[in-house]
Amino acid sequence: MAFAPFDLTGKVALVTGGNRGIGLGMAQSLGEAGARVAIWGRGSEANEAAVATLKKAGAEARGYKVDVADEGQVEAAMAQTLKDFGRVDSVFANAGIGRGGTPFIETTTQSYREVLGVNLDGVFFTMRAACRHMSARAEAGDPGGSLVGVASLAAIEGAARNEAYAATKGAVLSMMRGLAVEFARHGVRANTILPGWIATDMTAYMQGSAAIADKVIKRVPIRRWGEPRDFAGIAVYLASDASAFHTGDQFVIDGGYAIF
Ligand code: NDP
Repeated sequence: MAFAPFDLTGKVALVTGGNRGIGLGMAQSLGEAGARVAIWGRGSEANEAAVATLKKAGAEARGYKVDVADEGQVEAAMAQTLKDFGRVDSVFANAGIGRGGTPFIETTTQSYREVLGVNLDGVFFTMRAACRHMSARAEAGDPGGSLVGVASLAAIEGAARNEAYAATKGAVLSMMRGLAVEFARHGVRANTILPGWIATDMTAYMQGSAAIADKVIKRVPIRRWGEPRDFAGIAVYLASDASAFHTGDQFVIDGGYAIF
């Protein structure tokens, strides 16, 4: 019999912000590894395009129009996802917005609240709904599950002119550690991914910048921007039984930037 610890056949994965960028990179690999995939995002068209991409690769997928900053929408979307798929085995709380580049003293309260709403409230609402499902399922005799928060290097580095965003990412890291301890008794694992500089819509305005190329990307030991597909392997690992004893950890995926 072949060694296949990364086979996700029979598992259901949920990816918030899975319709593009890092989330889509993870959703595609999860589908390709055999998972049925639920994609949450605000844009119906982007959701459907992502679902079509996954289906083309042979995966079963569905899209849900959800604003993760809205508690009611998250509750309704989780209920519908569970109705459609019957279960959720891994949850990637990846939806996020950036707000970098503004000097701290000029950061408006409105901008601060918007970032908190998506990047922190959104993860809290998503994880709480997921934990309710996973703990109830465990109590019914079917333990297990994998929770993944997508934070940022901003969680652990000094992110100048990006303090509100950094605060949400530090909070995600702390939340995931708490969940790792609280839900371990139900066989549920909780980990955090910290991406470095990744070429997505979020960083589009920086990708053509000579200053960023010279001062940042040159300092990435692997000497390139990260790509959404660079998150394919870690997503499958964390959703799979290969990571059954791996919890409470942080995975820095940055081409070596943080240690150089
Ligand atoms: P993108 O801007 O490419 O994609 C963001 C995704 O989140 C989209 O699918 C978007 O879909 C979704 N989203 C945004 N707001 C909401 C909301 N309120 N409710 C539901 N979905 C939402 O970003 P990235 O792929 O770059 O980022 C993904 C994650 O990785 C984020 O948490 C980000 O902070 C983090 N990250 C990114 C880095 C980078 O360099 N790119 C570096 C470090 C961390 P829609 O608009 O349809 O809602």
